Amino acid sequence: MKGSAMRLGVDLGGTKIAGIVLGEGDRVVAERRVDTPSGDYRATIAAIKALVDALESEAGVERLPLGIGTPGSVVPGTRRMRNANSQCLNGRPLADDLQCALAREVRIANDADCLALSEAHDGAAAGAASVFGVILGTGVGGGVIVEGRPLRGCNGLVGEWGHINLPWPTASEARQPPRCWCGLDGCLETWLSGPGMSADHLRRGGSRLDAEEIVARAEAGERLAGATLRAWLRRVARAMALVINLIDPEAIVVGGGLSQIRWLYSEVPKIWTEHVFADGIETRLLPALHGDASGVRGAARLWPMDTTTA
Ligand SMILES: [Zn+2]
Repeated sequence: MKGSAMRLGVDLGGTKIAGIVLGEGDRVVAERRVDTPSGDYRATIAAIKALVDALESEAGVERLPLGIGTPGSVVPGTRRMRNANSQCLNGRPLADDLQCALAREVRIANDADCLALSEAHDGAAAGAASVFGVILGTGVGGGVIVEGRPLRGCNGLVGEWGHINLPWPTASEARQPPRCWCGLDGCLETWLSGPGMSADHLRRGGSRLDAEEIVARAEAGERLAGATLRAWLRRVARAMALVINLIDPEAIVVGGGLSQIRWLYSEVPKIWTEHVFADGIETRLLPALHGDASGVRGAARLWPMDTTTA
């Protein structure tokens, strides 16, 4: 196959860097993962370069344009990164530095935008005209796809759902909102992320457990874990009701570690009806079909097939 029919994507996460080459029909031609160098920007650039070289060698191509998905966003005026929870990226011109190191064009998008793009194309929401993609994991983020394309705002902020205040708070939630790393209190990320669920369980008098263990104990009938899980589901439902009222998507697709919680899909749509400003809501809530690979598949899709021949 000609190299021009292939796409190259990299998902730059806080702990792993995943890379993929997609061929015709979105077939995986090559894929690799490496550890993210911790807190070291120059080493991160070098690791991406080595990963790309290895992928292209395996696929028998060179100089494919590169799509990168990563938490945070690019400041439109300066092209520098901001709001990344991998904080060594913030303030850095990541796309320009990668273009220099790799001698090719580079596009960067938020990791939730990439998840949403992938799932809207050939994933759980294939064919939907409007999709809100959500990552519920160590962090919380969102991305909006309309007619197959990411919605680009003038500030590069579309989908910064994780740093909106929890809507319709209960009295106790309003009294003691957790402090977010961004400097605000009560951001959705502090309530809905895995560490957010763990912190809530501790506040209720539970022991220090990760989200997976809390859900397992809730399913085994442990009362306190059940209360933590139910409170989390109610918060997710309110946060999604806000999105439905704002952009009314056909589908909401969930990725990230907490997307495995099956109660999301059975319980949240029952609860969000209390807050959405209409009856008979048609929005579908779905787990990401491509799972962990959605981010990297979406990054590869940042370059449309018809522009890869340059
Ligand atoms: Zn925040």
